[in-house]
This record gives sequence, C-alpha cells and structure tokens, in this order.
Amino acid sequence: MRIDLRSDTVTKPTEAMRRAMAEAEVGDDVYGEDPTVNRLEECAAEILGKEAALFVTSGTQGNQIAVLCHAGPGDEIILESDSHIFLYEAGAASALAGVQARPLKGKRGAMDPEEVEGAIRGDDIHFPRTALICLENTHNRAGGAVLPLDHMAALRKVADRHGIPVHLDGARLFNAAVALGVDASEIARFADSVSVCFSKGLGAPVGSLLAGPKSFIDKARQWRKRLGGGMRQAGVIAAPALLALTEMVDRLAEDHENARRLARALAETKGFSVDPDQVETNIVIVDISGTGRTAGEVLDRLAAEGVLAVPFGPTTLRFVTHKDVSRKDIDEAILRIRRAVGSL
Ligand SMILES: *Cc1c(COP(=O)(O)O)cnc(C)c1O
Repeated sequence: MRIDLRSDTVTKPTEAMRRAMAEAEVGDDVYGEDPTVNRLEECAAEILGKEAALFVTSGTQGNQIAVLCHAGPGDEIILESDSHIFLYEAGAASALAGVQARPLKGKRGAMDPEEVEGAIRGDDIHFPRTALICLENTHNRAGGAVLPLDHMAALRKVADRHGIPVHLDGARLFNAAVALGVDASEIARFADSVSVCFSKGLGAPVGSLLAGPKSFIDKARQWRKRLGGGMRQAGVIAAPALLALTEMVDRLAEDHENARRLARALAETKGFSVDPDQVETNIVIVDISGTGRTAGEVLDRLAAEGVLAVPFGPTTLRFVTHKDVSRKDIDEAILRIRRAVGSL
C-alpha cells in the first residue's frame, strides 16, 4: 500500500462526511438560501471570533478575495517572502488586484515587526500606498512553523500604529491552534480578515472560508461572484466542511505527533538531516544533501518503495502527516524510507 505524505490535501472525506453530503439540506446560495452554507458561515464566524464569514472554493480564492477587498491597483502589500500568497498563487495578487508585493524575509515564517514597520510607506508622491500586511499561520514553507501569539500581537501593534489592515492566511490555522493549545479565535483576533481551509488536514473534500467584519464580508461576497465563485446548492460541500470544523480539529494533535515521530526517525537516517525540535505541527522538511543525490532522485527511490513526498528545493523534501496515515503507516514509511536510502 502506498503511503502518501505529499500533502494533507490528499485526505479523503470520512464516511460521516459522505453521509452528510447525501443528506444536506440545500438551496440557491447565490440567493442566500442554502441553509447548510448559512449554518457553516455562522458557525465558522463564531469559532473564528469574527462578525461574518464567506464559504469560498479554495484557500487561494479566500486569500485573493481578501487582497481585492483590502487593496487595489498601485497599492503595496507586505508579506513574507516564502508565503503562499507570494509564491504559490500564480501571481494573482498582481494579476487580479493589481497590487505590488513587498516581500520581507522572515525567521521561521515570522517577519521582524521592526522591519515590517520600516517597510510601511510614508506620505510621498513617489510611493505606493501600503494597504495590507499578510501573515501565514502555520507557515507552510517554514515547515509548519507556528507564529507565536506575542509575535502576532507585535505585528498587530505595528499595523494599528499605521492604520493598516492585517490578513491572516490561516490555511492551517487549526494546526496552529492545536499546537498552541488555544482556540483559533485567539490567533485570528490579531487579524482583520482570516482564511481557513477545510480541505487540508480537516479532511473535507473541497472548500475554504474567509472571515472578517460584516462590511468586509459583504464586499467579499461580490468579489467572489465576480471571480465566478458564486455557487448554487453548495450545501452538499458545506456539509462536510461543517463536520471538518466541528469534529476534525482535535485529532490534528495525532498528525503533529506522527510528524515528530517521523522527524525523529529521519534525523537518524543516513544522509538525511532534520531537527525534530523544529517540527511543531504536521510538516517535516528534510535536507537530503547528505545522500549526494538530488531531491528528484531520492523521491523516485521513495516512490519505488511506495512512499510519496514532494520536492521543496534542490536538496529538500517535504513530508506532511494527515488523518489518512496512521502511526503504523508512519512506522512502515520509516522502514521503507531507510530501505530506499540504503539502496542509493
Ligand atoms: C494550501 C494553502 C493555501 C490554499 O491552497 P488552495 O489549494 O488554493 O486551497 C493557502 N495558504 C497556504 C499556506 C496553504 O498551505
């Protein structure tokens, strides 16, 4: 059996989710008449501590609608140089909102608040307007690193001093909440708007959500329509998302444990290098330069043993744990990875 550690997006919906999809009460959501979507949006807004929420097709759509609501052509947005919005959204912020990105290098995904303050534009005819600060928690490229609460608070202070809104890319916000042992709202409260994904570790088949003030969500709803994201009987996908939100959060702790277990084993594997203490959530980034092979070559060997991961650089791999890999699967993956590396 293949052990798929490429991403937590490969998770399949649970039996309960499939039942909920079949039985979902539905209506036309563009008319605001899908009771299941409405329930999801109300429930999520409450959990995230925001006035309102909007069900969207993907995390990318949620982030981009947020950028479109907060900023416009010629504006500048400050974001971390390894962030998803900067790296992995097909240039949407410039293509759609017409904004200019100001990427700042962070440490474990966290931009220095003083550097952020220094990057905020003053009042000068030559400058673009700084319209938005974007954060990512947990931070994907930083290996699932959690932005600490005091860091979020420090950035919030900077933003407030300059009257600039903060958007939080919380694709894995619930992983951060579980790792910190706090409610998601305790993290989201430092941001004006927040996006979350149901389709990653929480196991829903599709869908993300954007939350924020009521006036912001009203505007976001029109942007979603403009982008072709107005869905009709979306209750069939909102129903599993509701289960993701209410039933699947606490179990993320198992994924975090499995990730640490995997990291500890890979740290002891010849040619692999990883610091297990840096694994805070469900992502394990491994430097494989000690094998003398490229990421592609090592991945091919792993795939031949039935273990899938993704390249994260010329000599870096990413492994992601999730609900469809058990602790037993992780132990089996460790055996197979060692066999693959041994045969290089
Ligand atoms: C996955 C992810 C997203 C959104 O991805 P979609 O595939 O568009 O749902 C956004 N931000 C981060 C950090 C992610 O990992």
